Amino acid sequence: MGYKKLNTSLEFVKGVGSIRSKILNQELKLKTCKDILYFFPFRYVDRSKFYKISEINSETSYVQIIGKITDVKLVRYNKGFRVEAFFNDGKNELKLTWFKGTNWIQKILKTNIKYVIYGKVSWFNNKPTLVHPEIEKTNKIQKQGSINIKPIYHSTEKLTNSGITNNILIKIIKSVFDLISDDLHENLNESLNKKYKFRSTKKSLYLIHFPQNLNQLDEVKEKIIYEEFFFSQLKFNLSKNNRKTNSRGFYLPKVGNLFNDFYNNYLDFELTSAQKRVLKEIKIDFSSKTQMNRLLQGDVGSGKTIIAFMSILISIDNGFQSSVVSPTEILAHQHYQSFKEYSKNFRINVEILTGSTSKSKRKEILNKCLNGDIDILIGTHALFEKDVMFNNLGYVVIDEQHKFGVKQRSAMWKKNTPPPHILIMSATPIPRTLTMSLYGDLDLSVIDELPPGRKKVITVHRYDKNRLKVFGFLKDQIKDGKQIYIVYPLIEESKKMDYKDLEDGYHGIIREFPLKQFSIGVLHGRMKNSEKDYEMKRFTEGKIDILISTTVIEVGVNVKNATVMIIESAERFGLSQLHQLRGRVGRGSVESYCILMTKDEISDESKHRINAMTMTNDGFKISEIDLKLRGPGDILGTRQSGDLELKIADLVKDSKIFDNALTDVKELLKKDPFLLKNTNQNIKNYIINNSLDKSWNLIG
Ligand code: ADP
Ligand code: MG
Repeated sequence: MGYKKLNTSLEFVKGVGSIRSKILNQELKLKTCKDILYFFPFRYVDRSKFYKISEINSETSYVQIIGKITDVKLVRYNKGFRVEAFFNDGKNELKLTWFKGTNWIQKILKTNIKYVIYGKVSWFNNKPTLVHPEIEKTNKIQKQGSINIKPIYHSTEKLTNSGITNNILIKIIKSVFDLISDDLHENLNESLNKKYKFRSTKKSLYLIHFPQNLNQLDEVKEKIIYEEFFFSQLKFNLSKNNRKTNSRGFYLPKVGNLFNDFYNNYLDFELTSAQKRVLKEIKIDFSSKTQMNRLLQGDVGSGKTIIAFMSILISIDNGFQSSVVSPTEILAHQHYQSFKEYSKNFRINVEILTGSTSKSKRKEILNKCLNGDIDILIGTHALFEKDVMFNNLGYVVIDEQHKFGVKQRSAMWKKNTPPPHILIMSATPIPRTLTMSLYGDLDLSVIDELPPGRKKVITVHRYDKNRLKVFGFLKDQIKDGKQIYIVYPLIEESKKMDYKDLEDGYHGIIREFPLKQFSIGVLHGRMKNSEKDYEMKRFTEGKIDILISTTVIEVGVNVKNATVMIIESAERFGLSQLHQLRGRVGRGSVESYCILMTKDEISDESKHRINAMTMTNDGFKISEIDLKLRGPGDILGTRQSGDLELKIADLVKDSKIFDNALTDVKELLKKDPFLLKNTNQNIKNYIINNSLDKSWNLIG
């Protein structure tokens, strides 16, 4: 079946040509007919209604009026000019204003010709005016015919300046439909279309650009959104099935001496049932003979580290090396320490490799690793480097995945053939729809239970003006032998300024907590790693009462005796970061506190976030709220949200459609795993023709 026309370059579409196609590509990344069909309007205006000027009141937003220009003049203001015109609808008059393109506007505006104007009402001195309205001669409108609901597309200055206005875009898209309409295939199968009463793909695509009314718009949008979710989940599931049937993985069937000895004799707590379940899931993968690719989600403090360690023991039991990748040096060191401690009764060789490992030490480690003398190599992204080679790497644990790009994880795949088993541990719980949209090709394990006896971290919001009371509380805690974190924000772009926050904070603290009486530590990103480690070690050993730090402390740090987390300028932190920071306390069974300090005046949005924190300790709930408040782009950072590739679907608003699509995909693949049935050929063709990545072509 031909999908060729869909991939025709826009250059060959009527009214585009080489110059415009270049601009469309540069500005909007639109190259082919298909690209522009899937470039959806971001809003629509109802052009079926015409207003009278007398109808305009303070509630009115956009208006469309027919009338004539009665007067045009250039008015001097500040350093430039503006054009003012008066527009008469037969009874009343309205002012129109242009600040830009004044020469051109003045030239084209003619009096005594009928125009249709359209724009948003603004008020100046209690009088309505339209600033930069769209303006068209009425005969033109009649020619265009029946556009009542007008699509509005995102534009850029360069586009408008080079004459590709919204109206031109509309024309181009209409030409594209004319050109390729025979080539617009149905994407779904009949039974799905019937189930949801969907229109055809072709009709839906057309109507999403040019709906006849707004109700219809919602219907066709649903189909397009559904298709978007459906095909992304279908690709993920096909790739997962493919991996399970075709990609060989190391066979690690033995739960041997190391694991059993540790479990029976050295593990000093009972695993939660969630932890047991996850270990079982990993064991099944290890003995499946195909490569494991598993995402482990669990809230802060849910006990992921022990899962990593115990599953690594299985890997060693079966004669393989393992590796743990962490996003920061502090965390790598902490893992190193705990793994050393866990394995002290065994003949296991644990090593650490980071960016600050000395050259000679690095050389020694690389040698040992290649010889197989190291069982567990822990490190930072330094492990991704090509010259880090193993004798027989069987298993890689990547901690706190959200800090790494998705691509980076594949660097570890290449370190053995077949690729080692991979466990990705994510400490930032993200909502299920987001997880499935980013990691749908991974198997998912969830620790949905905290170790017993854990108390909620009591979380409160305090304004700066109440600082002294907070200090009083801290003194009581210290008297009680407890330790305290005080965290200041750190924003990459302005390290200097934030360091200053920290420095000022430090001086404030030592005024209140004199160094003679209290032991205060400082930790920030500009310190040498050896200095950081030293401070961290003193804190871990209980030699520091208050640790003042920037967010370098954020990830995974584990000190049980620390019971208070003060977050300064909490209004400047994102929700997931606040939750992460809070997770540094409440790690033992004593009562713990998180105090969110803010300016006396904060925005409503900040208040929302702070309230969410005080209301719940559940990371999954927090992440749902975060997704609603900020959208996936802000949660993941733009780099990773690019991996979502969703054009129209919204993970929050459309979560119901998502659930339907996912259920349907699973059912479809259960009945027809290779899409061989006649009825599913549309679906199969779509997959084959829309997979840039050849690995998706798993079924042809
Ligand atoms: P995270 O999931 O945030 O990485 P950790 O693995 O650091 O959490 O575990 C937090 C703390 O809980 C550690 O001190 C760990 O020893 C402890 N822990 C883990 N599992 C259990 C359990 N089943 N019972 C009691 N304590 C546990
Ligand atoms: Mg952790």
